[in-house]
Amino acid sequence: MRLVTLAAGDHECAGVVIEGRVLLLEAASGGRLADPRPGKTALPLKAILPDPELMQDVRDVAARGEQDPSFLDRFAIPLREQDLHAPIPRPGKVLCLGLNYRDHAAESGAEVPDEPVIFSKAPSSVIGPGDPIRLPETSDQVDYEVELAFVIGAPARNVHASQAMYHVAGYTVLNDVTARDYQHVRGGGQWTLAKSFDTFCPIGPWIVTPDEVPDPHDLTLECRIGGEVLQSGSTSEMIFKIPQIIEYLSAVLTLEPGDVVGTGTPPGVGFARTPQRFLQAGDLLECTVQSIGTLVNPVRA
Ligand code: ZN
Repeated sequence: MRLVTLAAGDHECAGVVIEGRVLLLEAASGGRLADPRPGKTALPLKAILPDPELMQDVRDVAARGEQDPSFLDRFAIPLREQDLHAPIPRPGKVLCLGLNYRDHAAESGAEVPDEPVIFSKAPSSVIGPGDPIRLPETSDQVDYEVELAFVIGAPARNVHASQAMYHVAGYTVLNDVTARDYQHVRGGGQWTLAKSFDTFCPIGPWIVTPDEVPDPHDLTLECRIGGEVLQSGSTSEMIFKIPQIIEYLSAVLTLEPGDVVGTGTPPGVGFARTPQRFLQAGDLLECTVQSIGTLVNPVRA
């Protein structure tokens, strides 16, 4: 299933993409996927993903939508990029791996790390499909990084790698936008600010459930600007794989429902190119991960 968060009327709700339309979960479930709290209407994906009973409701509703055209007509709306938000609009945490592709470590002039290099992006930097990446006045070295990201369902704490995949609710595309001047010169050795400007974390367009991604470590990924391919690689090149990442992180902190983890980027980023290629107002960025989808964001001043 492809799970989305979208604006429908005056509220935000969760849906399943079926045949180019979005089946609205709250309405299609007869209220089982509605939020009982006063003033709330639809349950967010963050609440649905960790709950096996609610996920079964989602699968039942989606199956009915696929089999029954009149059901789909009644509860689905057209899929339009401008309605989509990030599938998790405000994750509790966004964690990422640095230098997790051998060839990207090499182009960055860095050693292949012995342990995962972990940093965080501020949850307030998250934007959705079609939303503009805003170039800050204080940086002229804003760069792109296409990444496969996974989304946490059931909470994970001290989870062994052999049990880790149970905690993955699905996969999405993440663009780890980075101000290289803040990363390399102005950040005092810390990457947090470089990675956390408002709009620097496009996520989407949806979450694909694991049943549709048999091997997340064998997917091609690509970043294009205006059709020109700048990054191209395969998740098979990842140094630390998803089960190891979850074991490593969950030994330190609790991975909570809706947390998003970016797994690193392949080579071809702007600062390592000759000549360097940083984002400019007017660029149209397209980040694609095979079997997941394409995340498109314009760049604005
Ligand atoms: Zn990255």
